This record gives sequence, structure tokens and C-alpha cells, in this order.
Amino acid sequence: MSVGSTLLELQEIDLTLMRDKEQLQNLPEIAELARRRKLYIKLKGDVTKYFAQRKDVEIDLQELDSREQALHNGIEKARREVDMDDYRQVQQLEITLSDFAKKLDRVEFERTEAHQKLSIIQADEATLKQNLKKIEDAIVALTKQARTHAVDIQSAIDKNERKRAQLFESLDPALGKAYKDASKRFGHLAVEKLEGNVPSICRMTLQSSSMSDLRHANEVTECPYCHRLMVILPEE
Ligand SMILES: [Zn+2]
Repeated sequence: MSVGSTLLELQEIDLTLMRDKEQLQNLPEIAELARRRKLYIKLKGDVTKYFAQRKDVEIDLQELDSREQALHNGIEKARREVDMDDYRQVQQLEITLSDFAKKLDRVEFERTEAHQKLSIIQADEATLKQNLKKIEDAIVALTKQARTHAVDIQSAIDKNERKRAQLFESLDPALGKAYKDASKRFGHLAVEKLEGNVPSICRMTLQSSSMSDLRHANEVTECPYCHRLMVILPEE
């Protein structure tokens, strides 16, 4: 390979390496994983919230059971203590029993309400569990995908690093240093190729006087305009 072609390929590899390294730092899967993890933490918070709500309703239901039991005990007691031969006591018992019946109705009403509340919470909890499972699965899949992606990029980087080292070593040390310096100075675009009478990066049309000078120049020279390394490949 000619020196000019080597320089052009070296630059091509350096640009690819730069792109690949940046991609490795900013894998799209990693951003997506962060988003999913955030969502996962939020849903985990909801699990705790629903659990607390469900416990509250369960306690309410237990209290209703106790209230009901107490009312039944009250009814038993009232019946037991009444003197059925005393008209006034019998009349009083009727009033008392009707009062207990109203209280029992109230308990039943509250129990129905609590059960409705409980089924809504349980349905929400079930949906939440399904969503959590979906996110867990997605996180596992994304993690695998990120790892594969990273391994692929890294192996491309390793391959290009080896190729780059070979190309760089084949260059004359002075030219190697010139390439390095220009690369730093021109933000990795150090080498341009003369295409006709136009350099490929700065695109400034060369005058015919410059062109005739260049006809006798080496394959690698300096662009008179932007001062990048300029490769003049022999015409094919
Ligand atoms: Zn130029």
C-alpha cells in the first residue's frame, strides 16, 4: 500500500474507532434500562401502597365481625333477661330487638362496601404484579442485549486497534508524528485527498499554478489552503 493510501486508511480507522468508542459509552440499551429501572422502583412503591390499603380493609372487616358478634350477644342477653309475663318488658324487648336489627343492617351494609373496596384493590394488585413481571422480563432481556451489543462493538474496536497499530508502524516516524499532530489540530480530520483540483475536506479549488507545483510534489504534501496533509494518489 502506498504511503498516501496508508494515511487515508489510518484516518478512516481512527474515525471508526472514535465512533465505536463513543457508541460503547452511550449504548441505547443502557438509557432504556435506566428508564425501566426507574419505573420498576415506582411500581414497587405501589405494591407497598396497595398492601397497606388491603390491610386496612381487612382490619375493617375483622372489626365488623366483632361488632356483629357483640350485637348477637346483646340480642341473646336481652332475650334471656326479659320476663315474658311482664307486658311492659315484652314491649321494651321489641323496641330493643328492632334497634339491634338496624345496627346489624348497618354492619352488613359496611361489610358489602368493604368487600367491594377489597376486590378493587385485589384487581389493581393483580394488574400491578403483571406489569412488574413484564418490566422484570424486559430488564433481563435489555441487559442481555446490551451485553451482546457491547461485546460486538468491543471486538470491532479490538480488531481496528490491531489494524491501526500495523498501519501506524508502517509509516515513517516523522510522517506518523505529522499525522498525530494534524489529527489533534484538525479534530481527527487530518488528511484530505486531492480529487481533480479540489481537496476532499476544505473543498478549496486549487489554482493552476498550485496544481503545476503539485505535479512534482510527493504523494503526501500539505494543502496550501487549510494545511492538512494532502494525498495525491497517482491517477488510475
Ligand atoms: Zn485543504
